Amino acid sequence: MTLKNFMAIGEAMIEMAVIGPDTYRRGFAGDTFNTLWYLAKVMPDNWKVSYFTGLGSDAASSEMRAFGEDANIDMTPAREVEGKTVGLYMIHLDDGERSFSYWRSDSAARQMAADPKALREAFAQADVLFFSGITFAVVLPEHRETFLAELAHARREGKTVVYDPNQRLRLWPSTADMIEANTRAAQVSDIVLPSFDEEHAYYGDETPEATIARYQAEGVKTVIVKNGAGAVLAQTVGEDAITVTPKIVTNVVDSTAAGDSFNAGFCAAFFNGKPLDEAIQAGAKLAGKVVQSHGALVEISE
Ligand code: ADP
Repeated sequence: MTLKNFMAIGEAMIEMAVIGPDTYRRGFAGDTFNTLWYLAKVMPDNWKVSYFTGLGSDAASSEMRAFGEDANIDMTPAREVEGKTVGLYMIHLDDGERSFSYWRSDSAARQMAADPKALREAFAQADVLFFSGITFAVVLPEHRETFLAELAHARREGKTVVYDPNQRLRLWPSTADMIEANTRAAQVSDIVLPSFDEEHAYYGDETPEATIARYQAEGVKTVIVKNGAGAVLAQTVGEDAITVTPKIVTNVVDSTAAGDSFNAGFCAAFFNGKPLDEAIQAGAKLAGKVVQSHGALVEISE
């Protein structure tokens, strides 16, 4: 049986999380990678999930590859970039407040779109292509046009392109640059999964309806607006809008990867034929479990 292929495109990093004085625990995380990690658990057996990224040829890169494979993520599309290694971030805790330091400006993942032929060949293997605003920021500026062109090509070939804006100002020279890039990324996408707090902050959207209208004006077919504990609003062009209110979670301890796990629960249901409202419920259910534990990658039980 030929498996369908859900391919995420992006950057995973080494995560160093403080667990005691001068002691850190090493993990691996990154928005698109987190989504795949959850998808590998919830996607039905007729799918595989795979990762397109850049890795080095050193021990850290091998460990990341092994971590992905152990989690049932097909890491074979990952490009090997000579002389580079994977990015890293450190989580600091100060009186319960988390802050982050990053070493990622010269990571192997930044080179992931250096070879247009490699992009074309990799994307041709996929049925669904998933990327984020972080992915697009990580792709080097001189490769971004090619990257978008290859996504647009894949879409014309019948692949579904899914995009989470995940807008991170620190990865861009200015807000204007970030906004322009986000619009360009949305223009090559069929499905966009924004979070309302970011859309309000950067575009001044007063309502989730305004967010949907803005993305649909760029040619996006289906927009699903996440909104923390608030209602998710979604609409497919030509159909009525749908509102789904997540179940109340009383013991929220860490909202890291809430959006990433939502995307996984949503995509697993949606690409297996569930209607939009049921797929959103599946996303909210998975995210509702993830916010009840610490860390990005949380073991979940039914
Ligand atoms: P992001 O992590 O991208 O900022 P959100 O904070 O909007 O995304 O959360 C994504 C999804 O996670 C929400 O749509 C909701 O389903 C779920 N979620 C987040 N926070 C909570 C919460 N406090 N209670 C219940 N569900 C939540």
